[in-house]
Amino acid sequence: MPEPALDRSAIEAARSEFRARFDAADSDQKLKALHDEFLSRKSGSVTGLLKTLGTLAPEARREFGQLVNTLKTEIETALDEKRRAIESTRQPAGAVDVTLPGRQLPMGRIHPLMRVRREVEDIFTHMGYEILEGPEVEDDFHNFEALNMPPDHPARDMQDTLYLGAPIAGATWGAHRLSTHAQGAPSGVEGRGTVPDAQVRAATLLRTHTSAMQIRYMKTFPPPVRIIVPGRVYRRDNLDLSHTPMFQQFEGLVVGEGITLADLKGTLEAMIRALFGDVKVRLRPSFFPYTEPSAEVDVSCRSCGGSGCGVCKHTGWLELLGSGMVHPAVFEAVGYDPDKVTGFAFGMGMERIAMLKYGVNEIRLFYENDLRFLEQFPI
Ligand SMILES: [Zn+2]
Repeated sequence: MPEPALDRSAIEAARSEFRARFDAADSDQKLKALHDEFLSRKSGSVTGLLKTLGTLAPEARREFGQLVNTLKTEIETALDEKRRAIESTRQPAGAVDVTLPGRQLPMGRIHPLMRVRREVEDIFTHMGYEILEGPEVEDDFHNFEALNMPPDHPARDMQDTLYLGAPIAGATWGAHRLSTHAQGAPSGVEGRGTVPDAQVRAATLLRTHTSAMQIRYMKTFPPPVRIIVPGRVYRRDNLDLSHTPMFQQFEGLVVGEGITLADLKGTLEAMIRALFGDVKVRLRPSFFPYTEPSAEVDVSCRSCGGSGCGVCKHTGWLELLGSGMVHPAVFEAVGYDPDKVTGFAFGMGMERIAMLKYGVNEIRLFYENDLRFLEQFPI
């Protein structure tokens, strides 16, 4: 009886079957299922092939056995490799996927009023001014009386004042010096001391203007004086398009021998050009109790170039600040000799500058902290 020929077709069929199924096995579970289907001890199809060995002729058994074992190794290797590949792509717990796009972080930016403040401080620091702050809670003497506004002076009505329910006595504030910007800081202005406590009186009001610091500074330091005082001031105003009960000012004060109105005009022109570029500047006679003569300072309207438009109410000019030559009565109040020294002072609103510079038409926008507004300014 002839021996049955070695039949390789069953092995090739199993191999083809495995390969066809292998590509789709993309998880541990599917690989396990595939392993069981082909190699499990009881029911695996390849294991089944080995069980047919006994039906073959002895000389065919060896070759058939080798072929089946080769297939078995082939399947085990393929399954192992894929299992390791899947394992290597799995993220460990808490892992970060560095290929994901970054999250956009919100960027903070400098408030428009602070931008203006820094810019103005820079301008004056380069002109050799000292930058200082003063107390926001003031006494009547510094806020009114020494500025040539004695009690019952009608000019007090120009500024609706917020008074404290109970005066604060014995406060120890003084003319504390802010750190000036490093670049261009004038030498020789450091170490002049602070306002002695002795001159501090019971505080009764919220300062209505930064001019109160003129008095504190001059009472403390002899001339010459060249200072800028930025800070908050308070008035009894309701919040509307152009008023807030709290706003911010810059006070400027220069005192020395031979200071003239021409110095005031030149200084303000330099500042205004640095802030607004090429605009025209004019001084218009005005009145303040603490300056004589006094002048309002206007700049030409940038919207229409001076020809008249809605922004400038068809005048071609926009009011920017108040200024004047220091009144002799103010010098007398602080112990300066008005026959020896002259000086000029000016006060301007930070909000006013910011509104003109950035084209903002409502003052309250600066205080509402609406991000849609604030995000329109550069970082
Ligand atoms: Zn205009």
